[in-house]
Formats: sequence, structure tokens, C-alpha cells
Amino acid sequence: MSVPSAVLRSRFQLPIVKVRPGSIVVGVLGEVGPLWFGVHWVGGRQFLCCGSEEAGCPLCSLGQSRVVGVTMMEIRLQGGRQEFLLELSPLAFSNFESRLRFAGFDLKCGVQVQVTRARARGGLRIEPCGPCDRFEMWLDGERRLLNAWAVLYGLPLSESGESFTQFLERTRSVIEARGRLLLGSHRG
Ligand SMILES: [Zn+2]
Repeated sequence: MSVPSAVLRSRFQLPIVKVRPGSIVVGVLGEVGPLWFGVHWVGGRQFLCCGSEEAGCPLCSLGQSRVVGVTMMEIRLQGGRQEFLLELSPLAFSNFESRLRFAGFDLKCGVQVQVTRARARGGLRIEPCGPCDRFEMWLDGERRLLNAWAVLYGLPLSESGESFTQFLERTRSVIEARGRLLLGSHRG
């Protein structure tokens, strides 16, 4: 029996963590991803970059893309735990890695974190707070992260055993075609 693709996609869908200035988001991070990718901001929205101008990205003609990462975060909510996608900058992640090393925590075992943001458009600050008592969410985590990301950007789901790089190669033409369409409507 085949599961309809919309149903399959909805199974992988994850909400995005919203971190407002002044608020603290508490949760657990583990060694899943981050997936790093380039985005362009066009008309107040984020669109995927398919590499570079040389690589044929239509949107790169509007300006350089910005690298964004995404990982999974588990947050305790009323009635249980839920997984979210956490978007972060390379700088926020490398600062987090330094703090992890300093504190002696291992991301492989799960780490409790506090995530804050100083300004509305500022980067995230991810502070490790302690080891995780129960860590089981990363079962098949890489694939689930990749698929949640694919659903977020309206791309097809990953094929079994496919790496992020392979996935990007396979879906590159889709991203490029969308970029061309967007560029046309942006200039028109
Ligand atoms: Zn681009």
C-alpha cells in the first residue's frame, strides 16, 4: 500500500522555533546536521540559492546569498516533547561549539540549551546548560532533518540513503527554475 505523498510529507513537517528578543527558549540539541545552505532575501521572503552565479543561480544576480544552517531542537511542551527546526547562522553555531567544548558537553549525547536573541534581526545565542537525561530523538535524525527542510522549502522528499549534497544536486534544477521565475516577476 502506498501512502499518498501529501500524507508522507506532512509526517516530516516540523515547526520552526521562533526566538523573540527578550524571551528564552529552552530545549535539547543533539548532533544532527546542521544542514548549511544559501538563501536570498527577495521581497521580504527567503529563497534558496542554488550555488553561485557561476553555478547558474539566477538570484545571485540580485546580490550575494547568505549562509543559513538548520538543525533539530526538542522542546518540552505541555503534554510532551516536540521537535522543531532551529535556524541559525554559522557564527551562532561556532560560538555554541566553543561554549560546548569549554563546558565539556558532548552533543552526541544531547545537550540542554537556552536560546536567546538580543535584537529582532540579531543572531541567536545558544547557551549549553547541562547534559540531557533522556536522549532518544535523533533516531534517523539526519534523514528526518533533511526531509523536514525539504518540506519547508517545498522540495521533494529525500531518497533512501541520499546525502544532503546528493539531494541538492538532484533538486538543483527545481531550485534554479524557481529562482528564474522569481527573478522574472521581480524585474517585471
Ligand atoms: Zn544564489
